Amino acid sequence: MNNKTKELFLKTADVIIANKEYLTELDAAIGDGDHGINLARGFKKLKEKLENDNFESRNELLKLTAMTLISNVGGASGPLYGTAFLNISKVISDTELNLADLIEIAEEAIAGIQKRGKAEAGEKTMLDTIIPAAESLKKSRDNNSDLESALNNCLEAAEIGMKNTIEMQATKGRASYLGERSIGHQDPGATSSFLMISTFIENYLK
Ligand code: ADP
Ligand code: MG
Repeated sequence: MNNKTKELFLKTADVIIANKEYLTELDAAIGDGDHGINLARGFKKLKEKLENDNFESRNELLKLTAMTLISNVGGASGPLYGTAFLNISKVISDTELNLADLIEIAEEAIAGIQKRGKAEAGEKTMLDTIIPAAESLKKSRDNNSDLESALNNCLEAAEIGMKNTIEMQATKGRASYLGERSIGHQDPGATSSFLMISTFIENYLK
């Protein structure tokens, strides 16, 4: 396995750690104010592990990522992201990824999150970023787009999805306890998912 995947996960960890306060503020508005703290703790641990280890395959790296997030993030988001990465580890190959591979990865991530959290699109969760991103990739496939424009469109769809959570009422997770008062705030998990997706895409396009 080349080191690009490891670098990508180190960069993702840095982005999440840099946004710890922002994600925590978003969660303070509609949850319990720990999303940034939870994720930064998990990604800091992941960084330590990645820096001290070499990997034979992406499968191995993704499995380690999943396990580290499951055991160190806590909250609702730890097991959800952990299961997403665990599912991805099962399908990811070590060859260069094409659009069909990226669609499979996105679908596996969604399946993992839904297996654990039972949420659908429109419930004001991380899925409201990830599902539109996956749908955009599929649309690009159907239009025979090249990979670069597919990724650019996916990034845009993920951002719109994240912003659309502002107007949604939460019906899953802690924010659902607020009922209508959850409207008007961007979902923290949708925001962390956007940060991860945008880091993946921006580094992929480089
Ligand atoms: P907790 O709510 O336990 O404090 P976090 O603050 O770490 O956990 O994560 C909150 C985020 O988790 C929410 O913003 C939302 O995006 C996501 N989330 C919560 N429940 C679900 C669910 N059932 N399915 C998908 N995502 C969810
Ligand atoms: Mg929270």
